[in-house]
Amino acid sequence: MTTLTPTRPLPMTDEMQDLILHVNEGHVPELLHCVRAFTPVQDATQAQITALFEDGMELAVTAPAGVSRRFVPFAVPGPVHEAIRGTVGAAMKKLGLNPEGRVAAWQVTDNRPLTAHMRRLVLHLDQDERPAWRPGDACRFDVPGQDHGRPYTLRRVQGALAHVDVYCHDQSPGSVWAQGLQPGDLVTVRGERHEPFPDFTGGPALLLGDETALPTIAALLEGWADEHPVRVLLEVGDAAEQRYLDEVPLPAGTHVSWLPRVGDSGAALLAVLDTLAVAPAAVWGALETGAAKRLRKHLRAEYPQADVRLTGYWRRSEGS
Ligand SMILES: Cc1cc2nc3c(=O)[nH]c(=O)nc-3n(C[C@H](O)[C@H](O)[C@H](O)COP(=O)(O)OP(=O)(O)OC[C@H]3O[C@@H](n4cnc5c(N)ncnc54)[C@H](O)[C@@H]3O)c2cc1C
Repeated sequence: MTTLTPTRPLPMTDEMQDLILHVNEGHVPELLHCVRAFTPVQDATQAQITALFEDGMELAVTAPAGVSRRFVPFAVPGPVHEAIRGTVGAAMKKLGLNPEGRVAAWQVTDNRPLTAHMRRLVLHLDQDERPAWRPGDACRFDVPGQDHGRPYTLRRVQGALAHVDVYCHDQSPGSVWAQGLQPGDLVTVRGERHEPFPDFTGGPALLLGDETALPTIAALLEGWADEHPVRVLLEVGDAAEQRYLDEVPLPAGTHVSWLPRVGDSGAALLAVLDTLAVAPAAVWGALETGAAKRLRKHLRAEYPQADVRLTGYWRRSEGS
């Protein structure tokens, strides 16, 4: 069943639990590549990390034949998150898949300010691209001088045009790139990520986040088909950002609160979580990674029945 016998398990620290949660929630397709490449199971439909070891990861693998435990050895050494990423890359290589997925060049047709800090890039897609688009779909864009580019959400895709809304701050590489793009410029797009959402059909929903989550939340609200009420909590550094939702038709029963950011990222959101009038059944949100971790912990303790998916969309660098 296993290709190697695992050695020592890694201690289940908070950080390790967060990593497992992050991979299990957001990277199931990548885990399935590992299962196909490094275990005999070729028809798995679901995979979840159950334990991490110094030299590999144990997965619970669901296939038509049932659920089994499989050990996938790390293909590269190093810190565990790099080992997982390297193993996914090795799996994709072994399966003949391009780890970057699609690489495309899209032409800028418009670049305009939407709010004080948010710019909308309108991009013309290659002809045969993106037959299907879902809220939260994101791509990684090449940004000059940055090895790994920057991920941004496709706010909307209509025919051959995609809207990408970039929050510009602090003269950061992504902000400078977005501000400088001119109609006619080509942007290089790599890979693709589908945001994993909780099941919103089961009861009241809570959507929350900071400026970077606005495009995903706007797309979700625009296409909202569930009857349950939606509570939206948005933490922003500048009240002028509130205009961002002006163009979005809100589903009946939606209640939006804009919270000024005071102190740490996520602190204003954390402060109101205990005062919700209705317990949420499904929660989605995105914000700074450390804040996402704190809020996830709090929400899971406060609303143990809820399906909570909080994602780190950006990381505060040392000293900032
Ligand atoms: C799947 C996904 C989808 C995303 N979608 C969007 C989107 O649609 N629109 C969007 O604007 N962002 C989006 N983001 C977030 C965006 O990728 C990050 O904010 C990214 O770090 C921006 O790069 P940068 O060059 O501006 O800053 P970086 O070079 O990453 O960082 C430079 C400095 O700015 C700080 N910083 C980075 N981001 C922020 C921020 N948001 N607020 C304050 N300080 C910050 C860092 O701590 C660092 O000190 C998404 C992220 C992910 C993972």
